[in-house]
Amino acid sequence: MIPTGFEYERPDSVAAAVSLLERAGDGARPLAGGHSLLPMMKLRLAAPDLLVDLSGIADLRGIRDAEDHVAVGAMTTHAEVAASDLLAAACPVVAEAAAGIGDMQVRNRGTIGGALAHADAHADMPAVLLALGGSVIAEGPSGSRQIAADDLFLDHMTTALSADEILTEVRVPKLRSAAYVKFTNRAQDWATVGAAAAVAGGRARIALTGVASHAIRAAAAEQAFDGSNLAQAAARAADGLAPPSDTTASGEFRAHLATVMVERALRAAIDR
Ligand code: FAD
Repeated sequence: MIPTGFEYERPDSVAAAVSLLERAGDGARPLAGGHSLLPMMKLRLAAPDLLVDLSGIADLRGIRDAEDHVAVGAMTTHAEVAASDLLAAACPVVAEAAAGIGDMQVRNRGTIGGALAHADAHADMPAVLLALGGSVIAEGPSGSRQIAADDLFLDHMTTALSADEILTEVRVPKLRSAAYVKFTNRAQDWATVGAAAAVAGGRARIALTGVASHAIRAAAAEQAFDGSNLAQAAARAADGLAPPSDTTASGEFRAHLATVMVERALRAAIDR
């Protein structure tokens, strides 16, 4: 329950943070809300030599209107995302999903950038960003790059970010007709299975959490969707997937939940 020893730095700019990460190599980790990294360190599942605390970088916080999208700073907390009037008006699914993450303590410390960079297989925000077709901005030693959500999530707790890159901004397309629903064992639990759907022009982007090693598009359901056949499209939600079994749910039950969650998400997106 006691982490291994580590150095600690709290830079006040993204450039300084990137430089610290670059110099330290693979042994350094950015620290955001600490709600995933610190428990992992206490369990010794992570043992960084250096923590680069991003909380002193004012540029990484805040939510602003950026014409065709809403730009959310990586260090914006789930509570701030949930309370955002701008997101509620332009892309309510993001605010609603943030409001359903963990409990108040988690939402007050955990950040949208941390949730996406951590990429837990059961996390909510990766599926939401995937369904919306959003992206993130990453800043590293050779500059900044935009990574589409489709290319970001590679495996459980593994993303396309390199060890010396910082996720600085989340770009959320403005789309009201999107929804996220999740099945949990108890209120405020992680998703056993969650589904996000974004509907526009009779087509849908659909993403699932809790059915694979990372958030994943429900490709067969997307292809089957014709704008109105919610149940038939949702029935294809788990096609091609082999959801894992664990103490929370069997793979078979997760596959069933995927069909139910996708139908509900499509219905909620269309009914907006
Ligand atoms: P940290 O723990 O600080 O960091 C997590 C990882 O991301 C680390 O590897 C870190 O180096 C990296 N990282 C962080 N920020 C950046 C960045 N800007 N650039 C590059 N790398 C970065 N999540 C859900 O989705 N749904 C839930 O229902 C849910 N319930 C929870 C319940 C509890 C009790 C707890 C403790 C957590 C829960 N979470 C849930 C996770 C929560 O959303 C965390 O806040 C999130 O996973 C990590 O965000 P963080 O800001 O705390 O990141």
